[in-house]
Amino acid sequence: MTKGKINVSVDNIFPLIKKFLYSDHEIFLRELISNASDATLKLRHLHSLGEAKVDFGTPIIEVKVDKKSKTLHIIDQGLGMTKSEVEKYINEVAFSGAEEFLDQYKDKLEDAGIIGHFGLGFYSAFMVSEKVEIITKSFKDEPAVHWSCDGSPEFILEDSDKTERGTEIILHIDKDSVEFLEDSRIKTLLNKYNKFMPVPIKFGTKEETLPLPKNAKKDAKPKTKTVDNIINNTNPAWTQTPADLTDEDYQSFYRELYPTQFESPLFQIHLNVDYPFNLTGILYFPKLSNDMNLQKDRIQLYQNQVFVTDNVEGIVPDFLTMLRGVIDSPDIPLNVSRSYLQADGAVKKISSYISRKVADKLQAMFKEDRESFEKKWNDIKVVIEYGMLSDEKFFEKAEKFALYPTTNGDYFTFEELNKKTSELQTDKDGKLIVLYASNIEEQHSYIEQAKAKNYEVLLLDSPIVSHLIQKLEGANDNLSFARIDADHIDNLIKKDDVVISKLSDDEKTRFETILKTQISEEKYSIQLEAMDSEASPFLITQPEFMRRMKEMQQSGGGGGMFGMGNLPEMYNLVVNTNHELIGRILETKTEAKQQRLIKQGVDLARLSQGLLKGEELTRFISRSYDLIK
Ligand code: ADP
Ligand code: MG
Repeated sequence: MTKGKINVSVDNIFPLIKKFLYSDHEIFLRELISNASDATLKLRHLHSLGEAKVDFGTPIIEVKVDKKSKTLHIIDQGLGMTKSEVEKYINEVAFSGAEEFLDQYKDKLEDAGIIGHFGLGFYSAFMVSEKVEIITKSFKDEPAVHWSCDGSPEFILEDSDKTERGTEIILHIDKDSVEFLEDSRIKTLLNKYNKFMPVPIKFGTKEETLPLPKNAKKDAKPKTKTVDNIINNTNPAWTQTPADLTDEDYQSFYRELYPTQFESPLFQIHLNVDYPFNLTGILYFPKLSNDMNLQKDRIQLYQNQVFVTDNVEGIVPDFLTMLRGVIDSPDIPLNVSRSYLQADGAVKKISSYISRKVADKLQAMFKEDRESFEKKWNDIKVVIEYGMLSDEKFFEKAEKFALYPTTNGDYFTFEELNKKTSELQTDKDGKLIVLYASNIEEQHSYIEQAKAKNYEVLLLDSPIVSHLIQKLEGANDNLSFARIDADHIDNLIKKDDVVISKLSDDEKTRFETILKTQISEEKYSIQLEAMDSEASPFLITQPEFMRRMKEMQQSGGGGGMFGMGNLPEMYNLVVNTNHELIGRILETKTEAKQQRLIKQGVDLARLSQGLLKGEELTRFISRSYDLIK
């Protein structure tokens, strides 16, 4: 038996381990199972090289709770350790790793969220244990050893009579950590961190029903057999070759990842790089519309099939964090803080690789089957539009496949849109005017007026569309977007032909005076115009610029940098002075009747802009009944 003292510069590291990793005690299990898995895979490797002359068999890792003795056991059949290896890897190397880690991070306690992303390795066992034992037998022909340590730097190392190859770690669970003696707690942890690890993990047993023999009697009861309860899938889809996987395989893996999701994903992208960094994974595009689990079911990050986190911020481009799936990379430096992660060159490369790969896949889908791509558009557009706004390289690629749906149900690419509109929809300077609506129902009358003139009207209804429009205008000098209710259609697409006014200047002034008695000038600015006699007499519009700035301010960014504070609602009241009704109002003898007609006309205009509500709407309706009775 050897008694020794772990060589420490800090007096006692164990209280520190407990204190600093308080928030994330649970990761000890992940660390110990990772070690067991490493030991098993290392042996497999040596065996395949012919360097370990052993009967490799089909090794598993077993996790066992013994409530009576208050111990948790992690048992593997890996390569094990000799006495001198325990001294080296446990007493020296692992310990100095843990010590170094704490030295570096003990000042950063306040950054508690980060701490969960560090692996303390073997010594994280002391976060939950008052004593830890290792019983290990190397695959080499050397006696087994028994190491134990009760949380002080002193340890005991003695021979053991263990005969089977491998390592058993025994944790004597601390009284503060008894939760880890509950089966249900361990089950949850295994499911969270170890669900896709490469070595089978056994936790308890289960009953399996055997098939009935062919000659069984009708009322024979099927027999059951007790079998190991293996909690993991050792061969998850992302580790396989895409060519070997069917669409169904991808779908069922999605279910495995997110058992509570019943909506199927739209499609997936299988990632696979080995240069200049290692990364595999599968990204799924979910149907984003009315998805209730957006916050819960996120992309999961793995390191060699061990779950690390579902906070992939900085590793996956922001606009793709709405996707689902897994990313697995041994190259992501997990032992550093998030802020470091974001500045890390390798991580940046990973992020731009993912962005490029997604763009390429979308481009290919668009090319291969445009019709089905169009069908998916509404479900994926937010991701793509957000990507176009936030990632310049993605923008360049997306210009080829981003779609602009029309209110007629057509889908144009940007290039097609330009072609389609360049004949009809230009103003007198030849500038292309792209008309769009944000809501078919609410803007119906405006849309109809544009359609009557054979104009194309896009339907752009994503929340960030005002930002995207702003960007497109910035990138294309000769193009501007106008929402269909930004002005009268003839003003939006201004042609040279001047309409002659039926009213004299004097009559116009007189009309404006009457009008001003009926409407609030704070809300509406009046705009008298000689237009086609068919155009509505009254029309309420919302100037494009102000409305767009307001929207941009509401959806974040934009407004603030213009220093505009909170922008007010701004409307124009456009009066078509050539309309018959305006002439009639002027000819009407009594002032009361004039005012009534104006009120009714303006209210109709407000009604079609959805602005007439509450008491005003009630009064409008009763006034209308009066008129027809
Ligand atoms: P790391 O896994 O990053 O090397 P750890 O602190 O987790 O660091 O483990 C330290 C070392 O102890 C390992 O590198 C390995 O050599 C040894 N070790 C730990 N667990 C086992 C095990 N179950 N079987 C064999 N060796 C082990
Ligand atoms: Mg380890």
